[in-house]
Amino acid sequence: MKTIGLIGGMSWESTAVYYEIINKEINKRLGGVHSGKIVLYSFDFEEIEKLQHEGKWNELTHKLIDAAQKLEKAGAELILICTNTMHKMFDEVASNVSCPMIHIADATAEEIKKMGLSKVGLLGTKFTMEQDFYRERFRQHGIETLIPEPDEREIIHSVIYNELVIGLIRDESRQEFIRIINKLHERGAQGVVLGCTEIPLLIKQEHIDIPVFDTTKIHALKAVELAL
Ligand code: GLU
Repeated sequence: MKTIGLIGGMSWESTAVYYEIINKEINKRLGGVHSGKIVLYSFDFEEIEKLQHEGKWNELTHKLIDAAQKLEKAGAELILICTNTMHKMFDEVASNVSCPMIHIADATAEEIKKMGLSKVGLLGTKFTMEQDFYRERFRQHGIETLIPEPDEREIIHSVIYNELVIGLIRDESRQEFIRIINKLHERGAQGVVLGCTEIPLLIKQEHIDIPVFDTTKIHALKAVELAL
């Protein structure tokens, strides 16, 4: 079994889910009392969030490269960045370590294509929804993404940063997300990508009529597949 390195703490609420999914899936596959071999670098999200909103992406890139290199030194043979947003600097990080890294959008696109879909709604931080790094990656897989209207993007971004990253799960926010996803469906989305690793804490498949792609789960399961 390969040792999985997690760059986490963005936020820890979703990193905890990665940790649980990986351990449970490895036990399911190997039986006994097997669990994952994992090294974790967990950031203080306050520092990260501040730099993101100040647009200091270079500084963030250096922090992520440093974390990835530390994980590699600690024995990681496969590395995940446990947030969609920070895949903005995936290429820079991946080129500064020698072990493989799994891109969250590649793993998700694979699942979308398995279901034969080609047009999906995308929910995430404003960085993920509005900038090109994420949607372009899907485009390279032949998948078109639809994003919510500007005011709806504000709502989603605010719920992520003010509620979900501190574990606040509110039914009012869930209803807003469901309403926004239904509108994307009306605009032609065949499925919806929960493109922020905390959104699955709020929205589950049972709340939504179209297929839901949980990027946290997809990413974590892909790591297990490659680790074994
Ligand atoms: N975890 C979130 C994501 O998947 C948002 C927090 C962050 O900006 O890293 O994008």
